[in-house]
Amino acid sequence: MSEAPPLQTVNPQLDQSVLSANAVTVVKALREAGFDAYLVGGCVRDLLLGRTPKDFDVATDATPEEVKAAFSRARLVGRRFRIAHVQFRREYIEVSTFRRGNPEETDEGEAGFDGNDRSVDGVILRDNLYGTRDEDALRRDFTVNALYYDPIDDVLLDYSNGLRDISDRTLRTIGDPMTRFREDPVRILRAVRFAAKLDFRFHADTERAIAPLAELLTAISPSRLFDEFNKLFMRGHAVAAWELMHRFGLPEILFPLFENEDSIVRAALQSTDERIREDKPVTSAFLFAAMCWPEFQRRSALSATARNAADERLKAAHAVIGEQALTVAIPRRLTFFIRDVWRLQTRLERKTARGMLDHPRFRAAYDFLAIRAKVGEADPDLVQWWTDAQTERGAEGDSPTTQPRTQPRRRRRRRSRGRRAADGRQVRPQ
Ligand code: ATP
Ligand code: MG
Repeated sequence: MSEAPPLQTVNPQLDQSVLSANAVTVVKALREAGFDAYLVGGCVRDLLLGRTPKDFDVATDATPEEVKAAFSRARLVGRRFRIAHVQFRREYIEVSTFRRGNPEETDEGEAGFDGNDRSVDGVILRDNLYGTRDEDALRRDFTVNALYYDPIDDVLLDYSNGLRDISDRTLRTIGDPMTRFREDPVRILRAVRFAAKLDFRFHADTERAIAPLAELLTAISPSRLFDEFNKLFMRGHAVAAWELMHRFGLPEILFPLFENEDSIVRAALQSTDERIREDKPVTSAFLFAAMCWPEFQRRSALSATARNAADERLKAAHAVIGEQALTVAIPRRLTFFIRDVWRLQTRLERKTARGMLDHPRFRAAYDFLAIRAKVGEADPDLVQWWTDAQTERGAEGDSPTTQPRTQPRRRRRRRSRGRRAADGRQVRPQ
């Protein structure tokens, strides 16, 4: 790949008001300690597009240990690639050491799925992965993600015409797309995610490489695909991402049980996007419930008789969730949610209000019933019946969201300020 020096733009007119003061503090401190440091990746891209970055990443020639030594509030995370998180009150800045691309390695993402922080490779191999700033730029995935911004001198470094692609709203891999997608097939999903989020089109060569290589995604670990699933669908651009995925035959690869009739999935994605826009809690379990629902229905209809229906439905639920999790992992806490939401559909259909309104998953099951009604699979009058049941209950002075009182009331744990997903996971704001 080219060794040409980066194009430098002095005073690139970034909106300084949305720049994180903490990120600038980190860059400044590293510079003062004698290291090289820049803002890099998604935050620079988003600033140039006039969007507010979700978070700020810093790249430096300091090793993770040196970063840790420079900040008392830094801790090292990541398995294969150690990175430092410098913690501030409401934000942490991710600081990664320049590294070179290694075709033998796939990029495991910046933070591991299970938060496991041990190294698999040992120190020596990790040292070999570090590189210069130039190497760091070339190992990044897309041209628009390889811009380095120095907030002190207000200079932008552009190694691969990222600025041009930002102004053309084009997503293009750095280097040959076939090679880059083969090196790390997750970049295919990243391409879809960025195109959906930024409303970019693909450069022709990049687009041409996607469908033929999509099958390589089956070799990616289910836990990494779960991470990617969340980034694709839980950030407010799920419907757009899903459309693009269809263009490349990706749904069939990630969700092998999925059949092309996907109206319930679309309805669930749309509701997720809307809830995020309204700042309501969301959980990916709801999406899995929708993705696997048609197959679950088919299987339980096949095996169930009137006498064993509940058992057979439970077995079918286990089987379907288990099979889906072979491709995209479904953490245990989410499987409980999915099973409850499915199971409660039968109770909602029977209009047995007793105890139902107090069920901790009632709201989720009701929302699920509503999307089923929206796609013509459940009776809208039934949804209305349950809406009324809640209103009546509300009128009796007991809010429908009140927790069940059958057990002694436990003290509610104090919650941190961040939003929480319905299943209790913390959701980082966009
Ligand atoms: P977002 O706004 O969604 O966080 P991002 O571009 O910051 O977008 P991250 O996943 O946070 O995406 O990654 C940070 C940067 O690390 C990217 O901009 C890119 O330069 C690099 N990167 C991340 N994953 C890969 C990968 N699989 N291959 C190559 N480069 C990657
Ligand atoms: Mg990022």
